[in-house]
Amino acid sequence: MDRIVVVGGGLAGGRTVVELREQGFSGAITLVGAEEHRPYDRPPLSKAVLSGRTDDTTLPFDLDGVELLLGRHATGLRPGVLETDGGPIEFDGLVLATGAAPVRLPGSADQRVLRTIDDARALRETLRPGARLVVVGAGWIGAEVATHAAAHEVAVTVVEAGASPLLALGPVVGGHTVPWYSAAGIDLRLGAAVAQIRSDGVELAGGEFLPADAVVVGVGVRPDVSWLESSGLALDRGVVVDEWMSAVPGAGGAGGYRPGSVVGAGDCTAWWSRRYERRMRVEHWECAQESPRVAVATLLRTLAGGQPSSESPDDIYNPVPYFWSQQFGRMIQFAGLPGPDSTLVLRGDPTAVAPPGAKKAPGWSAGWFAPDGRLVALATVARPLDMVAGRRMLLADAAPDVARFSDPGIALKELAPQPA
Ligand SMILES: Cc1cc2nc3c(=O)[nH]c(=O)nc-3n(C[C@H](O)[C@H](O)[C@H](O)COP(=O)(O)OP(=O)(O)OC[C@H]3O[C@@H](n4cnc5c(N)ncnc54)[C@H](O)[C@@H]3O)c2cc1C
Repeated sequence: MDRIVVVGGGLAGGRTVVELREQGFSGAITLVGAEEHRPYDRPPLSKAVLSGRTDDTTLPFDLDGVELLLGRHATGLRPGVLETDGGPIEFDGLVLATGAAPVRLPGSADQRVLRTIDDARALRETLRPGARLVVVGAGWIGAEVATHAAAHEVAVTVVEAGASPLLALGPVVGGHTVPWYSAAGIDLRLGAAVAQIRSDGVELAGGEFLPADAVVVGVGVRPDVSWLESSGLALDRGVVVDEWMSAVPGAGGAGGYRPGSVVGAGDCTAWWSRRYERRMRVEHWECAQESPRVAVATLLRTLAGGQPSSESPDDIYNPVPYFWSQQFGRMIQFAGLPGPDSTLVLRGDPTAVAPPGAKKAPGWSAGWFAPDGRLVALATVARPLDMVAGRRMLLADAAPDVARFSDPGIALKELAPQPA
């Protein structure tokens, strides 16, 4: 009987187990996870858990019959054997799903990050009215933490080295979120580099000191793959995998690994994108949710004696990346990949202010258009229907009329290809 070992007990690891059973694997499954928890969902950590609306985000995966080795770290890999801090584990097939870990800054060990449910519960305890919080980084996580802290009457300062928040969306779109901070009573410092984190606050490069009761660092994550350094597998800011999510040999050759018997899924992978003809790595929930289907299909084809590759387009992982965030009372969604030569087109007025008593913030969207007229990326703020239609356009490589796109009175679905 074949044994498949899944390393990493997050969303991608949990979804892998579900896919293994759904795709008919009846052999032994072992799930090795560094955390003591069963797979749980991370997006609510910076939303419902921080706000106190929930304390448990365990995912409803059926893990019956799965050998769960929780609190166990994988420490190394060689063909057919996973090394762990609890001893070696032999496998016929292996799924790498060790996710990503937050980057920390030089200085005090007291700096907080937000990656685990334990981080979220501990941080929530510090968000007391009157407390002083410095958030380093005005990216997705920093903005969500600041949102909840400000709502709890915490005095919040956000320090961002770049010229605008949400730099992933570029300075124009990110710049339109600046007023959200002042409206929430947050002191936003842009272009401010951190010299060091101290236990009592943050020292900026210019010498200014920002006193704080707690410091949260949200400056990005790195794939958790250092334990694979001497595995012989290729690593390039993640586990290098092909379109079928099969791990690729390193420069010295990965002698002994049967092609297709080691696959990857989720945040830890750097996959080859047929759509964009480049290697991609994202830290998006949807990647951890969807990529296990492809990884498992590849692994099971291989274990059944077939080729890891396949001609079917359904067998490759080829998404249009998608991400969402909830901040300052707004749902932001982003899909696609802007190019350096893209033109930004706004849809609606990002500077519009909600009239007194309005329950919802005014919505707007922004599209990035390639020189040939194709829509290549879309950001929406409180306009979820734009995103539904926009994702159809992105998948179809559609080139909507720019004048009509920029008119928020015209439903985007009128410009989108109709579902088959
Ligand atoms: C606070 C927060 C909010 C987020 N909000 C959003 C959002 O709104 N929208 C969105 O699209 N995405 C969001 N994300 C990102 C999304 O949650 C991740 O993309 C997703 O969780 C990745 O899942 P994963 O299983 O690949 O990795 P992870 O969830 O990181 O799971 C990997 C697991 O592997 C374990 N592990 C690591 N190394 C080892 C080892 N050597 N041995 C054994 N186990 C190991 C880790 O401890 C971890 O439990 C958010 C993330 C965070 C942290």
